[in-house]
Amino acid sequence: MIICMLLGWLYFIRRILSALFLTMVVIVASNITISIVIAAPLLVQDSLAVEYDIVVHIDPVEQTIKGRSVIATTSSHELTLLLGQRFKVTHAFIDGVTLKPSGYGHLMHTWSVPASQRNVRRYIEIHWDGKLSPLNTSLDHQQTLGRAEPVSGSLGTFLPDSSGWYPRIAGELASYRVSIEMPSGQRGIVAGRLIKESETSESYHAVFEFPFPSEGIDFMGGPYIVTTDMMKSAGGKRIQLRTYFHPQIKELARGYLDKVKGYIDLYESRIGEYPFTEFSIVSSPTPTGFGMPTLTYLGINVLRLPFIRNTSLGHEVLHNWWGNGVYPNYQVGNWSEGLTTFMADYAYKERIGPEAAREMRLGWLRDFSALSLGQDSALERFATRTHGASQIVGYNKAAMMFLMLRDLIGYESFDRAIQAFWHHHRFRIASWSDLRDAFETESGQDLQIFFKQWLTYTGAPTVHIAKAIRRQSDSGYRVTITLEQTGVSALYSIRVPIVVYTKDSKETKTFDLDRGRQTFSFKLRAKPIEVALDPDFRLFRRLTPDEAPPILRQIMVNQAAVTVLLSEKGGAHVAGYELAKKLQNRIPKIVLSKDAFTATSVLVIGLQEQVDRWISSHKLPVRPVIMRSNGTAHAWTVKHDGVTLAIVSAKDTTSLKALVRPLPHYGRQSYVVFDGAKAIERGTWPARVQVVKLN
Ligand SMILES: [Zn+2]
Repeated sequence: MIICMLLGWLYFIRRILSALFLTMVVIVASNITISIVIAAPLLVQDSLAVEYDIVVHIDPVEQTIKGRSVIATTSSHELTLLLGQRFKVTHAFIDGVTLKPSGYGHLMHTWSVPASQRNVRRYIEIHWDGKLSPLNTSLDHQQTLGRAEPVSGSLGTFLPDSSGWYPRIAGELASYRVSIEMPSGQRGIVAGRLIKESETSESYHAVFEFPFPSEGIDFMGGPYIVTTDMMKSAGGKRIQLRTYFHPQIKELARGYLDKVKGYIDLYESRIGEYPFTEFSIVSSPTPTGFGMPTLTYLGINVLRLPFIRNTSLGHEVLHNWWGNGVYPNYQVGNWSEGLTTFMADYAYKERIGPEAAREMRLGWLRDFSALSLGQDSALERFATRTHGASQIVGYNKAAMMFLMLRDLIGYESFDRAIQAFWHHHRFRIASWSDLRDAFETESGQDLQIFFKQWLTYTGAPTVHIAKAIRRQSDSGYRVTITLEQTGVSALYSIRVPIVVYTKDSKETKTFDLDRGRQTFSFKLRAKPIEVALDPDFRLFRRLTPDEAPPILRQIMVNQAAVTVLLSEKGGAHVAGYELAKKLQNRIPKIVLSKDAFTATSVLVIGLQEQVDRWISSHKLPVRPVIMRSNGTAHAWTVKHDGVTLAIVSAKDTTSLKALVRPLPHYGRQSYVVFDGAKAIERGTWPARVQVVKLN
């Protein structure tokens, strides 16, 4: 759980960098083309090709880099060339003429490459060298990537694209060839096809080629043990599979390689042939985790977790189709996380069984319902994940949208549309409207309203059964149901599943609700007893308070939530304050105990007896049974008079302090029992489906 969050975070940072990059692409769209592949719709106009030919020597012990790059371009427009400011440039020429720096940015050497005639191929040659920062394995994932610093050490080298470790033309997709030299015992890798590799007693040498439009180049290196395997793609192409693992996890290689084969097979059958000729899993000494075309880079400790190969690995493999095979148009919304979540994370739950899939859908709706009104943005505005609310929209709401779409047009049309979308947009930038076109063409349905409401509206409809009546008729029974949608700025056109229960069977009816209040009726032979609204949670909607039992996340994401610290001074007060700050990721709004109920979300933190006294003085429901015996600390939610409370109770100050790190990771739970810093029990209060008895 924690790790999944972690992976998401890292992936997001990677995507942010990509987003910035592509934003620049769009800004200078009139100048853009891409090399090798046919231009994408947004990249037409006049052709610009950029190709990098890079040779680098990296010494992790000395922490040095020395490089030479020849950039070939046929652009007729002015270009900006960037290289990290920390490096010394020893040679900068364009077609044999000195290229003068156009300025010194804070972080980058900057050259302006003047405009030229159309279709003239020009060559820029840069030589550079310098120091890399020492690798610090104690940094956490956000620090590692947030810094965008090139780091190196004998345990690993990571040069993110954003660190400016090689000279690159701003805002351009480019193909490349990278020749790597490292001391013997070290291996280096960049995304792409390994075309040459050799090792002597002194040095290691490898050459990678990436003939597709790339968003940027990340370099990874380390004392890797490489394990290889091979598979044939659906079209008979050889796919080279590799793990670059640190020696301490080398025995995990086989299991990972087998899993990768399974994922590639799966997605080739669902979408189309794997677009590349390799896939590698590369271990990192820091707890990173993200994906690039042809590889994924995961922390050693992440790779050790047994569930990663069943979840995150498949997600990262699928990004070779969605994200790194078809590029989202970040200007008009990133669809790739939602589609990847739907076809990976959610699909794996469906494979486990209907209950597991329902649990995931309910979790998504519960998370969304935990946001306060107006806290979310429209899905079309999602570019990359920057905070909890953006993940809830960009990943979960989007995945749910694909589920509703499949429910609407059927599995066959859905699968055909996915394949057609892939076929037409491979290695191009595509937007939500391209997806809509594919689904409309394959299903023959007009999906304008469907896409418009889920992409452009904020919030979600709240739907409930206003009335349900049963009447006996000659041939059986007639049921009349009035449905209402409320609490939204715009009305939705939605298909509402209603399950009708008789004594020994159940039947699902679907009603098209597009007004605020509508009445539907149907006949039934057997006597209906009760009706339930969307008990399988297949409709994206704001759950009613009963359906959405409170979870800890509510007091974490609600900006208006207040905090009551029952210890007014001393260690327990300090620990309580720290915990509140960490949970809410902001300076907590501390209020006096008597003012607690002026807010709709309240966090209460105290020692066990203080908490018990407080509960009884406010006539709150008694401490749940599970919170009474085990453990050194408890956190649980309770809803009382429209107020959501999260109560944290610890045996003593030490037990309270122990929660500061782990508790924020349990936002999706209604309760957690801790023994020290370890969660020994957790769960959500059961959801109560909307049911109306018929009489
Ligand atoms: Zn992803």
